Amino acid sequence: MPDLEYAHIVVSSSIGTMLRLQSFTVGPFAENPYLLSCTETNHALLVDPGDSPELLWQAIVAAQVKLVAIVLTHAHLDHVGAVEAIRRRAQTPVYLHPADNELLANVVAQGRMFGLELTPVAPAERQLAHGDRITCGQLELHVLHTPGHSPGSVCLYLPAEQTLIAGDTLFQRSVGRTDLPGGDAQELFRSIETQLWPLPDDVRVYPGHGPATMIGEEREFNPFVGARASWGR
Ligand SMILES: [Zn+2]
Ligand SMILES: [Zn+2]
Repeated sequence: MPDLEYAHIVVSSSIGTMLRLQSFTVGPFAENPYLLSCTETNHALLVDPGDSPELLWQAIVAAQVKLVAIVLTHAHLDHVGAVEAIRRRAQTPVYLHPADNELLANVVAQGRMFGLELTPVAPAERQLAHGDRITCGQLELHVLHTPGHSPGSVCLYLPAEQTLIAGDTLFQRSVGRTDLPGGDAQELFRSIETQLWPLPDDVRVYPGHGPATMIGEEREFNPFVGARASWGR
């Protein structure tokens, strides 16, 4: 099964919170989907199922959770490849910021740019807006609109759990690329400075690619947007 070649699973459960977070790394772009579940109610959200639907489905079944929604941080091809398969099996809605609706509608063309055959993805059932709250059992996620990597990029902030799902906006010591259609470097920097830097130092950041990091560390050391940034300004 090619699915499993890319799979890499980490489970973290912060003590004293109701969040159980499972991360995976899937597909040719090494994208990180996240399964967030409430330990009180076993309700769960799947963020950015980019590839390997079989692996992700097995993880949902093994975790014995009820999937309440698929949430997309944005609609690039590497974040949406397993959406239709999971959506069908779980009978669950998809959430996306409307500024990325066009990207989602053009996922087949996005795939061709990289020589990949993707299947179309139907439109999102719920349109996210900045300031929205997504509830999942006892968990509450705040939607932060952080355009720049794509027009409809969002980050998902769980204040009680000091956790941020960052999509491709902020990475460990890097930031999302802005050379794809709809990308805008100045907008990306502004999003990070206005939406992410105000968050507390010890908020743990789970990005769409690569390892987790902390807000305080990136605010200080990120070479693109940190206090000592020397690039891209
Ligand atoms: Zn992306
Ligand atoms: Zn990505």
